[in-house]
Amino acid sequence: MFKKFILPFAALALCVTALGTQAADKLPVMTSFSILSDLVQVVGGDRIAVKTLVAADEDAHVFEPKPADAKNLLLSKLLVTNDLGFEPWAQKLVKSAGYKGQRVAASQGVKTRTMTDTKSKDETDPHAWQDPTNVVIYVRNIAAALSNVDPSGSSIYKTNSEAYVKELEELDAEAKTAFAAVSPEKRKVITSHDAFGYFGAHYGIRFIAPQGMSTEAEPSAKEVAKLIRQIQKEKIKAVFVENMGNPKLLAQLSKDAGVTVGPTLYVDALSKTGGPADSYLKLMRHNVMQLAAGMKQN
Ligand code: ZN
Repeated sequence: MFKKFILPFAALALCVTALGTQAADKLPVMTSFSILSDLVQVVGGDRIAVKTLVAADEDAHVFEPKPADAKNLLLSKLLVTNDLGFEPWAQKLVKSAGYKGQRVAASQGVKTRTMTDTKSKDETDPHAWQDPTNVVIYVRNIAAALSNVDPSGSSIYKTNSEAYVKELEELDAEAKTAFAAVSPEKRKVITSHDAFGYFGAHYGIRFIAPQGMSTEAEPSAKEVAKLIRQIQKEKIKAVFVENMGNPKLLAQLSKDAGVTVGPTLYVDALSKTGGPADSYLKLMRHNVMQLAAGMKQN
């Protein structure tokens, strides 16, 4: 009698194993924006299914969640955010959706920078991922959070995150080599919003941004005029636009200051799949290459 059941049971077990690779069985994880989504996917591998609230090429500073976002969040077991004031809408979304799952701030433990915004108020700079040594902290936080929710995957999460840490170290070494080829007095760049504080501090580059740390505030005519004088005085040719921002401001600036606007930098969001920055590593390599080439023109 018992023997008869062995085969069907074995067949059923096989089915379940096969299903294990399908989305339905994967750990559902929500991230706040596309760069985190890539990091979480790298650490979680095929054990998880990642969704993101702010899509590629979109601006997290001014995002407004839709009812579908609340629905997707409720289906998740873990919410990964940057924090440091980057997603001012996230807490409200968690509350209004009634989300009771786990949460982790990927930036937890990062040494933060304080900057003065366009209204001369001191604020924490949220763009910590622009320094790859901070992203080492991010991926370890992500691995710990995934292990918490899914303990049986913890050794996989650890292996994946440590392999990625090696890639981050390679990226960092490459970037240092690229910038070493630019003489120190030429290491200055104009970007539209002030997202390169961590990047600039780490690689010794001065970034000047008319729009401040958040894209919410537009600079005044007086501030733009002051910047134009600065560009002319310091002879800065490296002027860049960002993928998620409004390029109009810089276009105006470059016209009035007589400089050419350089290629797009990917800052607070990945490019769409197939674009030049559809992963964090590609995003950083793209920016490093463009910035190094641009600064040589200064
Ligand atoms: Zn930003």
